Amino acid sequence: MAEAETTLIPAPRARVQAMKEYHPPLGSRDALRLDFNENTLACSPKVREALAQISTGQLTRYPEREPVEALVAAHLGLEAAQVALTNGVDEAIHVLFETFLEAGDELLLPVPTYTMYEVYASATDASVVAVLAADDLQFPFERLLAAITPRTKVIAIANPNSPSGSAATRAQLIEIAARAHYAVILVDEAYFHFHGETVIDLVGEVPNLVVARTFSKAYGLAGLRLGLLAGSVDLMRWVRRVLSPYSVNSLALACLPTALEDTAYIDWYVGEVLEARGEFEAALGAAKLRHWPSRANFILVDVGAQHAEFVRLMRSSGVLVRDRSSDPGCLGCVRITIGTREQMRNAVVALNDTMAALRSKGQAQ
Ligand code: PMP
Repeated sequence: MAEAETTLIPAPRARVQAMKEYHPPLGSRDALRLDFNENTLACSPKVREALAQISTGQLTRYPEREPVEALVAAHLGLEAAQVALTNGVDEAIHVLFETFLEAGDELLLPVPTYTMYEVYASATDASVVAVLAADDLQFPFERLLAAITPRTKVIAIANPNSPSGSAATRAQLIEIAARAHYAVILVDEAYFHFHGETVIDLVGEVPNLVVARTFSKAYGLAGLRLGLLAGSVDLMRWVRRVLSPYSVNSLALACLPTALEDTAYIDWYVGEVLEARGEFEAALGAAKLRHWPSRANFILVDVGAQHAEFVRLMRSSGVLVRDRSSDPGCLGCVRITIGTREQMRNAVVALNDTMAALRSKGQAQ
């Protein structure tokens, strides 16, 4: 209807009009998925069984999150009132920013980092203050401290960070929380299982600390959309005002207890990824490709000016990787998720073929 297209619609808020569109490349992914840092294999077979047991009765009812929240809290050594389940960490970030950021506030972000912090911040009336890492892409601790102002309201730190794979230390995080004691410190531990270090034990003790975790990575449940936010009771009380009581669905809630119980599966998968990461780093070294040491299930690799062609050639060899060249400080870089040893051996074959093709093309030019 041509008429409908010319009809005036109400204008969205000015901040929404200024937002950039963000379309992660989620289409046509029937290949080796080394592009989104997911589990590249499967969730625990026990979780699969739990999914199969779901009754139609469970589906007709609205999901009841409290009992599962209490169980997760106990698993983490926390009180139920300190933990909120969310529809992925993405909802946790969204809700946290909606709860705390208003006009005049600053969100402090070490960059490069996870894209959604900036996306959700740009929908609020706060401003983003980005602190660029040096060439080594290590956590810019001193620079971040220097950027704290009385307006700093939230500091979001992915630990380990993406796409660099570098991590802040516990002592650094504690110092940041003390210096910016009037701000919320979000420590996003999406990749916790591959790193093995956490500050979740400080929840409650450090009153302005909030820790996020996800079931999208090691647990292999990205499709269920399940994450959590843990913080002091006073802080979480406000978060719960904004959080939908319905946002975590019944399928996710039904699977969660089994996912937590089957620690053997997580231990196995993480062990496999860490072995594969070591082998893959050696292969990158042999291919003379600059890369950054990673504490997570991915590695950032500098493939140079032909990064887009690299991604295309890898895809034509059946391996999906993510172009991160437009991230701050990441010119020419791609991020490669680490899967199992067998998958990564296949990835190395594709990588070596791709580099040979790019190098011969370069010489021909
Ligand atoms: N935080 C970080 C640092 C991430 O890299 C990602 C996933 N790419 C997320 C959060 C999103 O997690 P979820 O799937 O739970 O929304």
